[in-house]
Amino acid sequence: MTKIGVLGLQGAVREHVRSVESCGAEAVVIKKKEQLDEIDGLILPGGESTTMRRLIDKYDFYEALQNFGKAGKPIFGTCAGLILLAKEIDGQSDAHLKLMNTTVKRNAFGRQRESFEAEIDIKGIADQFNAVFIRAPYILEVGEGVEILATYQDKIVLAQDRHYLACAFHPELTDDNRLTQHFIQMVEESKKELATS
Ligand code: GLN
Repeated sequence: MTKIGVLGLQGAVREHVRSVESCGAEAVVIKKKEQLDEIDGLILPGGESTTMRRLIDKYDFYEALQNFGKAGKPIFGTCAGLILLAKEIDGQSDAHLKLMNTTVKRNAFGRQRESFEAEIDIKGIADQFNAVFIRAPYILEVGEGVEILATYQDKIVLAQDRHYLACAFHPELTDDNRLTQHFIQMVEESKKELATS
């Protein structure tokens, strides 16, 4: 069975576990870096990116997470997770994991729109997807080869860069598991590729 880890340091962890299990894969809450060796793909949940980064450093996860991505294993960042994956963060001198070729903007939809829901189209995955945004970031810019999969009000809210997937909203908060299913498919494909390489 395909094993998907959910980084369990902070944020919407349980909801992702439920969503992964609804898709028929096994979910593992990751609390120690050694557990990364047991999984085929990893979800970085929503929450608060600065808090999560502090805990990543505290529990010595930083290098292990970078190595996980650099080994070709898929990572899906949702909301705060999208911020953690980005190569650059607008207005900040340094970013976090810097694995994905994106520049992101935090809390980007403005104060009066702290949280909202919107129907979005996801290229090749869903024509109508109910996306829940909570103090959401968006992707300001993508580098070469990064595929833009969804926009909302002309802002990029979902993109894929090789084996990295990131969205600005919370797909785990509804019963629509199509995006999680897409990630699991990416993980299954990479598993096959990594097994033959
Ligand atoms: N604004 C948060 C951050 O900067 C992200 C919000 C979320 O994950 N819902 O980390």
